[in-house]
Amino acid sequence: MISLNIEYKREKKYIRNFYKTIQVATASQNIYLTKREKLTCKTCGKKVPLGKAFVAESEKHKGTCFTCSPFVGYIMLPPGDAAMTRRSKKHSTLCGVVLFWNQRRKRYERKGQLVEEIAIEKARLECDSDKESRALKNKKAAVIRAAHDKAYVIIFAEAIRQRYPNCPTNRENEIAAHACEKHSGRVGRTANAKQFDGKMIDLAVEAHIRHTETDYDDQFGKGKNKKTIRTEVRFDINKVLRKWRD
Ligand SMILES: [Zn+2]
Repeated sequence: MISLNIEYKREKKYIRNFYKTIQVATASQNIYLTKREKLTCKTCGKKVPLGKAFVAESEKHKGTCFTCSPFVGYIMLPPGDAAMTRRSKKHSTLCGVVLFWNQRRKRYERKGQLVEEIAIEKARLECDSDKESRALKNKKAAVIRAAHDKAYVIIFAEAIRQRYPNCPTNRENEIAAHACEKHSGRVGRTANAKQFDGKMIDLAVEAHIRHTETDYDDQFGKGKNKKTIRTEVRFDINKVLRKWRD
């Protein structure tokens, strides 16, 4: 009897998970706060004034005004809380991604999403109930990231030392720490010395020499432009590079 009960529970869990996986994701629809003039609603034929909501695949596609869209009565959830964004979308019948045109950056940016009020309430309940465990998870992830960053700097420093065996003591660490601050996003964080190419190391070392071994920084404000100053210190930089390398 007991084993039968376990079997039954297993079966139930299996079915529940199965339905979870085949559950269709909430459809997303873009809502543009228009930057184009002369847009009209394909349903009611009215003009959509500049800066007002236009619901379509893009501003170049045909679309509707807000009143003719299915989003009337939906609530705006501002961006910034990843869990709320994900969960409220999951619980809503539709999700309208509201986009506005950023003139300075020349691109559309998210202003928030329109979802059903009940979806926001459900998401809020879920977020409140696992607030602590999510905070702990984020904290753990941050610790792991910091450890990776540290390992990355150490390995980068080793690669510098290998390429410039005569560079003064501890300089490789200084250079690596500085370069990783700026470039960590670009070169990845897999902490594998093989992925550092020579060119990247050279650039980091060169920049360090320019600021510490030449009078580069003192030349500004004397009526010379940056290009001239760079050319002037080139010879000194190369001299130090050779010395550190051989
Ligand atoms: Zn309309």
